[in-house]
Order: sequence, then C-alpha cells, then structure tokens
Amino acid sequence: MIFQGNARYPVREVVLHCAAIRTGQFDGMSGFQVFSTINRWHVERGFTGFGYHGLFMPDGTWVSGRNFERIGAHCLERNRGSLGFLLIESRKVERVGQFWDWFTTAQWRALRAKIAEIDGIERVTGHNDYAEKLCPGFKVKQEDWLPVF
Ligand SMILES: [Zn+2]
Repeated sequence: MIFQGNARYPVREVVLHCAAIRTGQFDGMSGFQVFSTINRWHVERGFTGFGYHGLFMPDGTWVSGRNFERIGAHCLERNRGSLGFLLIESRKVERVGQFWDWFTTAQWRALRAKIAEIDGIERVTGHNDYAEKLCPGFKVKQEDWLPVF
C-alpha cells in the first residue's frame, strides 16, 4: 500500500487523463520531451510542476512523474489518495468506436501492467467521473484496467 503526503492518505485509486492536445501535436516527440512540455504547461498554470504521477506514450513507454508518495495535481478534490496517469492520445482509430480512439493497445497493456504492480489499487476511474470534462476522452470501465485475480 502506498501512502501520500504528511497525512499518509492510502492510495486505492488510479484516475486516468488525456492530454487534450491537437491531433499530432506530440508526434515525433520522445517521452521526455512530452513530459517536459506538459511540465512547463503546469508550471505556467501555477502548479508545482508536472501534476501527474506518470504518463504513457502511444507506444506504451512509461515516463515517471511525481513520486507516488506525493499528492498529485490532476483532479480537483480527488488528488488525495489517488494516482493520476496520463495517456498521451494518438487518436488513431484501432477499432471502430470512440472507446479505442483515445489510447492504443500498447498503452492499454502497459497501463494494466503498471496498475498490477502497484499494491492496493481497488478503483480505476476517469477525470470525467469527477468533473464536467471530456478527459480522458472515454468512459473508464474499471474491468478493462484492473487485473483479475
Ligand atoms: Zn484530466
């Protein structure tokens, strides 16, 4: 079990996000370049740096963000006791329907594997479960993301 902040909030939830970029905006960039760009946006918005705990590139590459023990800045009122993961959208349709537009199979595999290695995660949700936002671009069904034991 991971605990966050001085109050040691137990971490039981992963909240998924998208980057809300223009189509192709990050094409050709490395994971580190994407991280650096978003970090700069977050600094400009007054956050203390990159607000997520990590991101997944379209090819499934993971780039670490905040330490999991540090409270994120990604979902108002849900930051304590959650991890915010960002799926860098490729918007290349792999299957018919909106659900697959927003992430690739490589991201799906990598994210499931990441969640499976974190002890104590019980819920996977989307930013749009908590705010009037499109983010992460689809309705998160946690059975798609949580490993079955
Ligand atoms: Zn979001």
